[in-house]
Amino acid sequence: MSALAPRADFPLLAADPRLVYLDSAATAQKPRAVLDAIAAFYAHDYANPHRGAYALSARATAVYRAARERVARFLGAADADTLLFTRGCTESLNLVAGTWGRANVAAGDRIVVTAAEHHGNFVPWQQLALERGAEFRIAPLAADGTVDRVHLASLLGPRTKVVAFTHVSNVLGAINPVEEIVALVRAAAPQAITVCDGAQAAPHLPVSVDALGVDFYGAGGHKMLGPMGVGVLVGRRALLEAMPPWLTGGDMIEFVHDERSTWNVIPHKFEAGTPNVEGAVGLAAACDYLDALGMARVHEHGRRLATLAIEGMLRLPGARTHGPPAGAERAGVVSFTLGEVHPHDLSSILDAKGVCIRAGHHCAQPLMRRLGAGATARASFSVYNDERDVEALLAGMRAALDLFAHA
Ligand code: PMP
Repeated sequence: MSALAPRADFPLLAADPRLVYLDSAATAQKPRAVLDAIAAFYAHDYANPHRGAYALSARATAVYRAARERVARFLGAADADTLLFTRGCTESLNLVAGTWGRANVAAGDRIVVTAAEHHGNFVPWQQLALERGAEFRIAPLAADGTVDRVHLASLLGPRTKVVAFTHVSNVLGAINPVEEIVALVRAAAPQAITVCDGAQAAPHLPVSVDALGVDFYGAGGHKMLGPMGVGVLVGRRALLEAMPPWLTGGDMIEFVHDERSTWNVIPHKFEAGTPNVEGAVGLAAACDYLDALGMARVHEHGRRLATLAIEGMLRLPGARTHGPPAGAERAGVVSFTLGEVHPHDLSSILDAKGVCIRAGHHCAQPLMRRLGAGATARASFSVYNDERDVEALLAGMRAALDLFAHA
């Protein structure tokens, strides 16, 4: 099985043919097309958008607008004004908790999250609940790593205001059935908003936010082959229009009176200050790149590499994987442990062989407690990986077992 995208497209990987990069769930490497798009913005169209009355500023405004429309199309959001640029997925989720949440959650209300959440979709809701005296409930997971829908349904009621859940777990690779969860919430708690963390889904699966039917969907650019420092929040228009702003200042205002201010229309109402145009432009180029590969193929590629890795790991003594079994529907993320070898030792041994994996709690401590693991190792795949990368990982794991057997 070859890589889906030529390694030569990725300058960092091309510069070091020995490097086996298996940490794309943390952040993905960048194709040259993304770097070129950013350079072209600075070389040809650079000015502060929305401000100047001169042609160059109008061009920068048009470039920024085109990037918004491109990313909205990638995520299946028909109304590009409902896509806000943020600093990342973490900020997108904090924005919802800090604005809609503060305006709508009161003492005695209930906020529901799942046990699979990354801290970015857990802590903002936990803190909002503490601030408001709201009830904070954690829906457990089924054996396949998706949220237990029966238990989730039992947590929904007239005081439920928020149901926040991940699309794809960054630890387990399990894919939640978003539409089914949304239908459950609509039926049992129609007053609640659904907030979906798409950080690990947007880079790996075809995503259509409109079809999923969630109220809010967050994602981060840097995992989608785009730049760091840019993310998106797609929200339902009526909710975005009704909720208070996030940061205040330039660009997001309509009028500033001495005593009070009124707000610009969306998306500008949520984008105070000079925007990250280079981030938006780079992310739009990443969407072009991913769409040219085809997101259905990207998904299948990640699933097959994950399956290959799991099958190989399970032939190693003491190896254990978490999440959906080999061959099952999943994203290209595999968490595992290897007998007595601590995940941090394993990642150091692999690093010496040029193999980059992640070890630790993966910013999901509530999930790690439930898995009964303080830490796991995690390998995650992207379009530039192939079966030789999986073989290098497995060879490194065998070497680690040998080392520990003779220690
Ligand atoms: N949610 C999930 C599921 C993630 O994997 C991550 C990144 N590890 C985040 C949220 C946060 O993304 P960022 O750090 O890019 O804001």
